[in-house]
Amino acid sequence: MKTLAILLLSFFSVAAYAGMQTTTTNPCYNTLGYKLVRGTTWDVPDDGLLLPKDVVKTEVAAAMQKWEDAANYNIYGDYASGGVGQIRFASLDPGVVSYTFLVTSTKGKKISIVGFNTVLNSYYTWGTDGDPSKMDLPSVLLHEMGHIAGMGEEYSCDQDAMFIYIVPGEVKRSLGPDDIIGINTLY
Ligand SMILES: [Zn+2]
Repeated sequence: MKTLAILLLSFFSVAAYAGMQTTTTNPCYNTLGYKLVRGTTWDVPDDGLLLPKDVVKTEVAAAMQKWEDAANYNIYGDYASGGVGQIRFASLDPGVVSYTFLVTSTKGKKISIVGFNTVLNSYYTWGTDGDPSKMDLPSVLLHEMGHIAGMGEEYSCDQDAMFIYIVPGEVKRSLGPDDIIGINTLY
């Protein structure tokens, strides 16, 4: 028996939370209704790394590229030391695989994502080789980079990257059909 674990999305501020009205126009995708500000830089801080920094950076960039290819749009900014968005390993409760805080900004009625903090739970063993005992870093990053672009959780269609559950050893490194429709509604 496998234990389902949660890829949890959370929000940085009360204002952002109040703005979280997900728009469902298709049963298999949800968007947050707002987008990442163009050029938002990102970093993989040195502290707490469970895999080599270059491996993590490569996989983050690869996950971002898949969303950009699907949208045909330059969604994410570049890697930069001290970048506004951060992806790191840190301790979370068992059962939570990863967690993304979104930092948002409101101008008039428009809400934008201006920063993010993605935490990969150091409780788990992480890998990139499909080992059944490890959390697959590329698969989890694909999901979390979706949140950063403005995608919400998907609760019922498990072929999609935004599906909320993943188990150790599960490899899901491609966007599903609904992910692709969803990102194209945003960009
Ligand atoms: Zn999620």
